[in-house]
Amino acid sequence: MPLVTRQRFVVGNWKLNGSFAANAALIEAFGPIEAVSGKTLGICAPFPYLGQLQTALSGTPARYGSQDVSRFDKGAYTGEVSADMVADFGCQLAIVGHSERRAIFGDSDAVVAEKFVRAAAAGLTPILCVGESLDEREAGITEVVVARQVTAVVALSGIEALAGAVLAYEPVWAIGTGKTASPAQAQEVHRFLRAFVAKYSLEISNRLPILYGGSVKKSNAAELFGQPDIDGGLIGGASLVADEFMGIWHAL
Ligand code: PEP
Repeated sequence: MPLVTRQRFVVGNWKLNGSFAANAALIEAFGPIEAVSGKTLGICAPFPYLGQLQTALSGTPARYGSQDVSRFDKGAYTGEVSADMVADFGCQLAIVGHSERRAIFGDSDAVVAEKFVRAAAAGLTPILCVGESLDEREAGITEVVVARQVTAVVALSGIEALAGAVLAYEPVWAIGTGKTASPAQAQEVHRFLRAFVAKYSLEISNRLPILYGGSVKKSNAAELFGQPDIDGGLIGGASLVADEFMGIWHAL
């Protein structure tokens, strides 16, 4: 069995937080970001601050991007921001299907799949979020839910699209709640997701980075990242605290 090395990521999701001043102070507090082979530090910021990140992170190995993209490419869609516009700011990343988009803004599996396709077509690396609610976990349908969410993307774009993508398993009950999935609980779902993708393509599955998200902190990051199918983390609250975020990065 050949040894497969997967890219590893720690990506911050700032959500609806930040200002020019606060962002500058946060990035300053990160200190120098070292280049580490096979590992990527990323930040997904609100759209208006992508230009600020473009300037602040130029010359560093850090990557940056948006927290969503439109499912449309252009036209009469007031308030939307297209993937091409995001790419215009030198972005490399775009989160799609975050549970807050799904739950609060009604992004269905089909809409998320369209957004995924737009992001990929714009040359961005889509970070596709999947995850079950507490009710779904308690009903024992975690695997059914995450399989359905991945299948929607594969049905629209083909399995090849996952070759250039990142998957993020984020149990909804663990996001912003302080409740982290145990490393074993997270690993179980990550292993399922990898096996699920392997049914389509073993090669893509072996190389697919699958990040865990849900109340990751510097104190629990190393144990989570030590699981065989966890290739890093998507970090919400802790990405707004320099010491926490850098601690998580160093645990990768
Ligand atoms: C997230 O927003 O993707 C997330 C994982 O949030 P938190 O780390 O705050 O739970």
